[in-house]
Amino acid sequence: MPGQRARNDGMPVPPGDSGPSAKSRELVSTGQRRYVPNYAPKEMILDRGAGARMWDLDGTEYVDFGAGISVTSLGHGDPDLAEALAAQAGRLWHVSNLYFAEPVVRLADELCEASFADRVFFCNSGAEANEAAIKLARKHASLSHDPEKHEIVTFHGGFHGRTIATVTATAQPKYQEGFGPMPGGFRYCDYNNVAALDAAIGERTCAVLVEPIQGEGGVVPAEDGFLTAIAERCRAHDALLMFDEIQSGLARTGRLFAHQWEEGVVPDVVTIAKALGGGLPIGAMLVGEKAAETFQPGSHGSTFGGNPIAAAVARVVLRKLRSPELLANVARQGERLRRRLTALHNEIGFISEVRGKGLMLGAVLRDEWAGRAGELGEVCRRHGVLVLQAGPDVVRFLPPLNITDAELDDGMDRFESAMREAAGRGGAKESG
Ligand SMILES: *Cc1c(COP(=O)(O)O)cnc(C)c1O
Repeated sequence: MPGQRARNDGMPVPPGDSGPSAKSRELVSTGQRRYVPNYAPKEMILDRGAGARMWDLDGTEYVDFGAGISVTSLGHGDPDLAEALAAQAGRLWHVSNLYFAEPVVRLADELCEASFADRVFFCNSGAEANEAAIKLARKHASLSHDPEKHEIVTFHGGFHGRTIATVTATAQPKYQEGFGPMPGGFRYCDYNNVAALDAAIGERTCAVLVEPIQGEGGVVPAEDGFLTAIAERCRAHDALLMFDEIQSGLARTGRLFAHQWEEGVVPDVVTIAKALGGGLPIGAMLVGEKAAETFQPGSHGSTFGGNPIAAAVARVVLRKLRSPELLANVARQGERLRRRLTALHNEIGFISEVRGKGLMLGAVLRDEWAGRAGELGEVCRRHGVLVLQAGPDVVRFLPPLNITDAELDDGMDRFESAMREAAGRGGAKESG
């Protein structure tokens, strides 16, 4: 393509070497003008990817430590996913939920076989999966209890989506401001605090919805025993135990589900989405025996839910994410990433801890580094590595789970050079 430089040699284009092309600048300004301004995309146009690397329209290479927010867990351009997509695209795109289609049936069966679940509801996003879970919990309680039993307990710092119900489940004021009135029936309590849970839960509780590791809230894992404590209270109050594994699930932490790190906890509902389609939109609510028959014909639905192309791809994703080699790679690369962060910390003293599990890690900024996660992300981008933040104080790493030693080392070399540059500015801390 004219004007496009191929940079496959693994070297970042030095900052300022030529600047964005006219086409790239035109696309950025059109996007800035034409998108509803609820996002603030970086001023570049991503154009292609391979494994853990991406290139923008001008050929600048980036190591991808964000995986589209835990979505492209098998990296970019996996040939097996592309093959499954092409095969299904030539066969059938959509059947509606009036009919069965083979890839969707098989995916449901394989998800149940791989988990605690008996049944699956398919949708297209995380918020929809949680919306289904919220409705399921209410319906389940309504069938055997009086209507007072409708409260759902969630946790401060959690994140469950942007629809009106899921943003209400999201106990963070910044996501709710201006959208009131919020639906009633949600109770919030402090994460990792059993006493607070005991104060919030009761006979009116129909479910507890919780992330085994809070993602958007700062990469905060449930402490040992906390999920068990929730499970015990759910049992005592006949409330559904619902894990939001939209970010932490599907091998992200080195086990297929993050809640499996807590011995003996069996949920009633688990919601998944992000990684399931390898980059195609698909979400699912997995339901265990207790509530498997709660929804009946007419209870709930989604026109696009259970799309055959997304399901055909998701079957391959699931098979790959379940493989022992992949899970071992998550553990090993997670350790390597931690080691490099710790070594860098010993040199420039920028973090108080590294939180998380497997390849869901948060570096918690300290002292004069605190509050700078967004700004540091931009420095990283100039150095050819894409990282995420989780609030102003946490640099978040969610690389592809099949990342290689060479890709991880290359990305960390770039991260280190970015942080050394940021450290070099000494006391030049920017406010905000
Ligand atoms: C991303 C996310 C959601 C929302 O998913 P969408 O696909 O953006 O609707 C819900 N819960 C958690 C834990 C998430 O990380």
